[in-house]
Amino acid sequence: MTPQEPLSLDALTAIDGLLTDEERIIRDTVRRFVRERYLPRAAELFAKEQFPEDLIPEIAAMGLLGASLQGYGCAGMNAVSYGLALAELEYGDSGLRSFVSVQGSLAMYPIWRFGSEEQKNKYLPKMAAAELIGCFGLTEPDAGSDPGSMKTRARLDGDSYVLTGTKMWITSAPICDLAVVWAKVDDGDASSIRGFIVERGTKGFETPTIHGKMSLRASPTGEIVLNEARVPKENVLPGVVGLKGPLSCLTQARFGISWGALGAARACYEAAVAYTRERVQFGKPVAAKQLVQEQIVEMAMDIAKGQILALHYGRLKDAGAITPVQVSFCKKNNVGLALRAARKARGLLGGNGILLDYPVIRHALNLESVYTYEGTDEVHTLILGNALTGHNAF
Ligand code: FAD
Repeated sequence: MTPQEPLSLDALTAIDGLLTDEERIIRDTVRRFVRERYLPRAAELFAKEQFPEDLIPEIAAMGLLGASLQGYGCAGMNAVSYGLALAELEYGDSGLRSFVSVQGSLAMYPIWRFGSEEQKNKYLPKMAAAELIGCFGLTEPDAGSDPGSMKTRARLDGDSYVLTGTKMWITSAPICDLAVVWAKVDDGDASSIRGFIVERGTKGFETPTIHGKMSLRASPTGEIVLNEARVPKENVLPGVVGLKGPLSCLTQARFGISWGALGAARACYEAAVAYTRERVQFGKPVAAKQLVQEQIVEMAMDIAKGQILALHYGRLKDAGAITPVQVSFCKKNNVGLALRAARKARGLLGGNGILLDYPVIRHALNLESVYTYEGTDEVHTLILGNALTGHNAF
């Protein structure tokens, strides 16, 4: 019997019927960009630890930098369009999506939400146009899941703040023109966390690259070393004091990640279906074996449910009604399912599953970072556990 054409995941969820024309156009535009411009180079960029900086202007031209922010040269897309775009980018590579997440949600958003009018006018239009690349410095060598224990300090000295400390694992730090750095300002007995815009060229500001990552290799990750770096008083973000500043940025980024991970999962799923339909063992394509089909079906069910969850929360976000706990739910659920799908696909490709010739091992390795950053899987469990039981288990 001749096998039938496989049903696509989009057809399974009938997701197109739930999207507006504009949302579909944005998704399809980014899909084309990723297939034509990124995928032919994806394996090589990963192997060589290179980020394709030459593609940044094209990403900006699609309106993807600060995409869901209003005004200041930003596209003002709705949350669903933005999510769909991120899923397409991560179908290419989690590193590509990370760049866009960091620029929009972690570097532009704090300026847009907490910055002065002067700061917004000075930085946001140039960041939307990719004339300025930003990064977000919260994590430190000794302060990851517990950012409140950060050691970086800012001391007021005349008309400037002097910053000292080290930030670790900072996406885009090596290529950034500016960093939004979170530091504690000592005020008498207490200290409070404030956000600072630190421009490249500031004396005492360095961003050494972290080499040797086996995950997100196409994403430039670095440290931010602040050695008595002096920034003008006007560079403090005036609109927020305390941990809620960085945490509100993370909520934005986590929402995007919960969509992005679906793209990586879909890439693995499609690779597994295509491969198992072609690969013949024991006289038949392995896709005709029940144990293989079970894994394909489980992947499809997981991804489809993750898509519907992300879409539902996207609509809630557009209605201004989403909560950080719901974002945690979606991040944990969708990154978890993506990692499971990547591992299943890796197995289904057999030995070829470990080669960079296929996208699967690259996604599987990338997703290990996505599982850890923006709140580890455990941190999201604790956030949800607290919400669902009323007991704080941190
Ligand atoms: P730790 O916090 O030390 O955690 C170690 C383990 O302990 C984890 O399993 C964790 O879940 C668990 N754990 C911690 N606390 C608890 C608890 N209370 N109960 C149970 N288990 C617990 N940071 C930025 O600021 N900006 C960036 O741009 C950025 N980009 C990144 C890019 C990459 C590739 C990576 C890997 C990380 C990036 N990060 C960035 C940092 C990331 O957010 C942190 O790695 C993450 O928050 C975890 O911190 P940690 O690595 O110090 O792990």
